[in-house]
Amino acid sequence: MVNVKEIIDLLGPISKEETGLIEKAYAFAERVHVDQKRNSGEPYFNHVFEAAKILASLGMDAKTVAAGFLHDTIEDNLIKDEELQKEFGKEILFLVKGVTKLEKLEYHGAKRHIESLRKFFIATAEDVRVLIIRLADRLHNVKTLEHVREDKRRRVALETLEIFAPLADRLGMNKLRGELEDYSFPHIYPKEYEETRELLRQKTKASEKYLEKIKRTLQKKMAEAGVKTAKIDYRIKRLYSLYKKLVRKEMNIDKVYDVVALRVIVKSVEDCYKALGIIHSLWRPLPGRIKDYIALPKLNGYQSIHTTIFTGNGEIVEIQIRTEQMQKEAEYGITSHISYKDGKKIMKQLPWINQTLEWQKHVSESGEFMENLKMDFFNDRVFVFTPLGDVIDLPEGSGPIDFAYAIHTDIGGHVSGAKVNNKMVPLDVKLKNGDIVEIITKEGSHPTEKWLNYAKTPLAKKNIRSIVQSKSSKLKSFLQNIGRRPGQN
Ligand code: MN
Repeated sequence: MVNVKEIIDLLGPISKEETGLIEKAYAFAERVHVDQKRNSGEPYFNHVFEAAKILASLGMDAKTVAAGFLHDTIEDNLIKDEELQKEFGKEILFLVKGVTKLEKLEYHGAKRHIESLRKFFIATAEDVRVLIIRLADRLHNVKTLEHVREDKRRRVALETLEIFAPLADRLGMNKLRGELEDYSFPHIYPKEYEETRELLRQKTKASEKYLEKIKRTLQKKMAEAGVKTAKIDYRIKRLYSLYKKLVRKEMNIDKVYDVVALRVIVKSVEDCYKALGIIHSLWRPLPGRIKDYIALPKLNGYQSIHTTIFTGNGEIVEIQIRTEQMQKEAEYGITSHISYKDGKKIMKQLPWINQTLEWQKHVSESGEFMENLKMDFFNDRVFVFTPLGDVIDLPEGSGPIDFAYAIHTDIGGHVSGAKVNNKMVPLDVKLKNGDIVEIITKEGSHPTEKWLNYAKTPLAKKNIRSIVQSKSSKLKSFLQNIGRRPGQN
């Protein structure tokens, strides 16, 4: 039996109002889903309970957890928008609607535009909390995939590996990414899954002894040097990520040095470098394998120092050094960037957001920190679909001609008309997020000067210009030729 107290406990110290909100959302969702069952035969409510629990364990705020309980209530019109808003307010309605909207997006297995589809998800989510609820929802779904029909099971697992796990990765949520991958893995590659599991089992068993020895030596030497260690332990590589690496190493596990890595957690950045020095004085490092992600964090914010050493007994081991805060951020990513200060919630920014996207410079301290998580950094892009479900990513203000050129210059060069969502449209129409666009081509159709006013992308403009210019230069030479009289030169 599920119990709301389990979730309230996970949330830590929260206000009376927040506790009330969680209890209300729990009771509401239980009532709405009372007649529904999952494929496994258990009550449907268990699914939303588990999704809410994942959100609570990620450290999300009470409103997000409440939205987790409610995330499937307006689907299939179980509940009307107005009722949800009346009971829970605008913000929660917004979150639940956002998740419902994302659930409607299906992945059609088109490989070419996966990156655009990921961006489309982010853009459509509008608020990063919507995306995180969707990820929690998906995690519980892949955990229970064995009850699902075979064809659907494969589709969901593949979609998880190709869309959802990379999204979690982008948000720096490594723990969630790893779980999404490892629950999907056996449904897509059952044989490889078993093989990887067996290789990992053998390797872990063989490593235990010498890792324990290294750990003890290191603990002693660090204490002697006066470097406080919070913790030294091992981390075992996750199955799917090991599998991906094995594929690159001809399935030879001895060529993968971080199957079991020693993880040294210290108190400060300074201690990270001290620990590195101690390690290198004890064991010889493998050349070219020292990575300083503290000085140069990964795009998703990941920070740590990695080094690989010869143990002296023929083994090679990777050691990862980081602070406690870095460890937390490495596991929880964007959700760990929520810190509490004087009762106010403040969010730090992820480097990839800073570097690659336009994101608000300042986080307001009004306490409504989640307002600042609005995913408006893609608001200068539109994501549209081909009739086959490929996603094309265009700048805002683009039209059918830009779309046609984005697919192929040959299609762009012969546009005669366009349909958007199955309706004929003029060529100067502006495309909107989620439009399905179909281009009608004719052999005899060619770009005209006018198209330059319709096109937005440099690609389309360049191609149109070159055709129009070559036409006009042909025309010029034609006119020159007919204007020329015999005998004249
Ligand atoms: Mn759901």
